[in-house]
Amino acid sequence: MVNQERIVQEFLELVHIDSAPGRERQLADALKQKLVALGLEVLEDNAGAAIGGDTGNIIARLPGQLKHVPTVAFAAHMDRVTPGLGIKPHIKDGVIYSDGTTILAADDVAGIVQMLEAVRILAEQHIPHGDIELLFTISEEAGLQGAKNLDRSLLKADAAYFLDGGGNVGTIIPQAPAQKKITVNVNGVPAHAGIEPEKGISAIVVAADAITHMKLGRIDEETTCNIGTIKGGQATNIVPAQVTLQCEVRSRNEAKLDAQVNHMVSEFQAAAQRFGVTVDIKVEESYPAMNLSENDLAVQMAIEATKSLGLTPVIVPTGGGSDANILVGKGLPSVILGIGMEKVHSTEEFIPIQQLVAGAQLVVAIVQQAAK
Ligand SMILES: [Zn+2]
Repeated sequence: MVNQERIVQEFLELVHIDSAPGRERQLADALKQKLVALGLEVLEDNAGAAIGGDTGNIIARLPGQLKHVPTVAFAAHMDRVTPGLGIKPHIKDGVIYSDGTTILAADDVAGIVQMLEAVRILAEQHIPHGDIELLFTISEEAGLQGAKNLDRSLLKADAAYFLDGGGNVGTIIPQAPAQKKITVNVNGVPAHAGIEPEKGISAIVVAADAITHMKLGRIDEETTCNIGTIKGGQATNIVPAQVTLQCEVRSRNEAKLDAQVNHMVSEFQAAAQRFGVTVDIKVEESYPAMNLSENDLAVQMAIEATKSLGLTPVIVPTGGGSDANILVGKGLPSVILGIGMEKVHSTEEFIPIQQLVAGAQLVVAIVQQAAK
């Protein structure tokens, strides 16, 4: 069903086009041209301007012949991590690699070409379907900025599939944690460390005292936390007056997430009180949780579509956050699908051609499930 030569050529063509967060213009223009040629209606929102990028999110619509069936959306991101410029892909034994000096950008060009190939198959095979939406986001790798600034009113979908997951095709990821970030400033009292250290209160010591009272790392099966950076002090002869810590907490359970955030905040406050200093604490939500169950329509359609290809669905949660979290937060039931890419965000990234092909087949199969 899939034209293997065509999807591989398109993958090679698109990874050759440079792209980076906020700098997706060239790739977006190439995609727009392809989408229009395939007969889709193509829109670009204003998210690019909102985040200082040169490109907005691209939304493409393929109206279906079938009405009264769910509208499904498929999504992938157009940006890449570094080193992601000047990619020179090559194929060895049915697997596509970079030349080892850059990433391959299967994350997320594989998802993009799987969508495009699926659209071609629907037309070539005259497969009846409902309305389909394709979403190509910007700046996913830079804090999910494209999804966060997406004009939600442009999507009508009942279920969305993000072609952006690790694992072989057949991997279905309906759950991902929410994340909150905590920034803490400890305000100590400076003093000369040699002449009158007793007049100072070390911000570093206060922070250390707080940390030794904290549960950190893996809190439970669905909750993790980390103090990622600690910066402070000026010189060995000054009792440090300032230290800034950046922490994150993740959980698939929002109540557990808040409990861990509160635990950390109160330990910082308690340590400050013990030493008679103050702390400034800022808590920000990075993204909400993704928490669909196996009974949700979006997950059910993915399971049935996977089985229809003779594959065994593997349903797993992820510990990472992605565009899908943001869309779930905006009220669109979303699932991440494994697209066969491996070792992403590294120069060893690769994708087997067989997986590239299977991902396109899965997109078609999900469209067919929605049409039932
Ligand atoms: Zn990705």
